[in-house]
Amino acid sequence: MVRGRVIALSVTDVRFPTSSDQHGSDAMHTDPDYSAAYVVIETDATDGLKGYGLTFTLGKGTEVVVCAVKALAVHIVDREFEEIVGDFRRFYRQLTSDGQLRWIGPEKGVVHLATAAILNAVWDLWAKQEGKPLWKLLVDMDPQKLLSCIDFRYITDALTEEEAYDMLKHGKLGQKEREEQMLKNGYPAYTTSCAWLGYSDQQLKELCVKALKDGWTRFKVKVGADLPDDIRRCKLVREMIGPDNLLMLDANQRWDVQEAIDWVSKLAEFKPLWIEEPTSPDDILGHATISKALAPLGIGIATGEQCHNRVMFKQFLQAKALHYLQIDSCRLGSVNENLSVLLMAKKFQIPVCPHAGGVGLCELVQHLILFDYISVSASLENRMCEYVDHLHEHFKYPVTIKKAAYMPPQDAGYSTEMKEESVRQHRFPDGGIWQKLISGQNV
Ligand SMILES: [Mg+2]
Repeated sequence: MVRGRVIALSVTDVRFPTSSDQHGSDAMHTDPDYSAAYVVIETDATDGLKGYGLTFTLGKGTEVVVCAVKALAVHIVDREFEEIVGDFRRFYRQLTSDGQLRWIGPEKGVVHLATAAILNAVWDLWAKQEGKPLWKLLVDMDPQKLLSCIDFRYITDALTEEEAYDMLKHGKLGQKEREEQMLKNGYPAYTTSCAWLGYSDQQLKELCVKALKDGWTRFKVKVGADLPDDIRRCKLVREMIGPDNLLMLDANQRWDVQEAIDWVSKLAEFKPLWIEEPTSPDDILGHATISKALAPLGIGIATGEQCHNRVMFKQFLQAKALHYLQIDSCRLGSVNENLSVLLMAKKFQIPVCPHAGGVGLCELVQHLILFDYISVSASLENRMCEYVDHLHEHFKYPVTIKKAAYMPPQDAGYSTEMKEESVRQHRFPDGGIWQKLISGQNV
């Protein structure tokens, strides 16, 4: 049962020096230091459980997200936990519609990343209190209760609450079998770890050999900085993985619209399944234009890791601007907003292929895609979840990958908790830990 009053929220700026080895490098982010604004909430319940949440960042700027978490903390500290999750839609709106703070959003940018970190901690604590991994909490939840977590404001022209209810009700059919299937085989994944932009050809070859040996059949290559370089690297990877394995490309927003069409057309011979983030993540009509132009080449459009909110996802779907929808557990307003996007994707019959990697993104998003398969999409066609093999050792409940599939987590919670030692070691020196307590006193 849900219990306790929230008595404290703390936030820490945690940074990992991934840029030193070019891990995570792409055409736009050449020196990422994978980082997180890491939130912990505590209640006065005697069970000693805490909620852990994070949002992902690339190093500099994490301190800004931390500031936004501090500004939002007033909405959660000194509240009954039952009051928060008992009417989660109301609480979500309070966070995202604060009469003053919404001016620096609304529902986008730094303030929304901070919202994600806080709400991820709330979901972690809720799942822990119920003694279930988050995906199972969602799968077992009554459709009406699930709907009560979603803010339908601004999306009812695409998806009404009644339609969503029917989908969730329908999703109950065969749920048990799909859950068993996931527990046995896991959710299919693809790897981005072989071909970061900053890796040498030799490194790329060695990593492909190892990944193939480990059973990977789906590979993503970073492109967009230099065309002859991309042709050479795509040729190399295609040769390594053979004609039958899947190849995806990711430009991380590098091009203008026409430039994207021209560039990707020159990579068509390598038979990529999709081009990811070909242009500005905000350019919905630009994506639609690229999508139309590349369709005859059999190349789809994937995007979403920097899509601000459900409203933009709605428009991407309405404009037929994407073929693969990439939710992100730390960009949108946590599970609440992701639920609305999963349901819209189902309605528009677009496969969801989550964005993951970074720090903690695999740990979190696996729960959402498991729920999507078991209770919403009921299909694995054209579906897979991104995987990157970095930084899992810092988590108390790291992902388990078997035969290139995510095995459903068994521990209660949202897999968000980092090891204390890791947080202590990687705390940004200028950051420290900030804590808001029930007394109003900040430490
Ligand atoms: Mg990407």
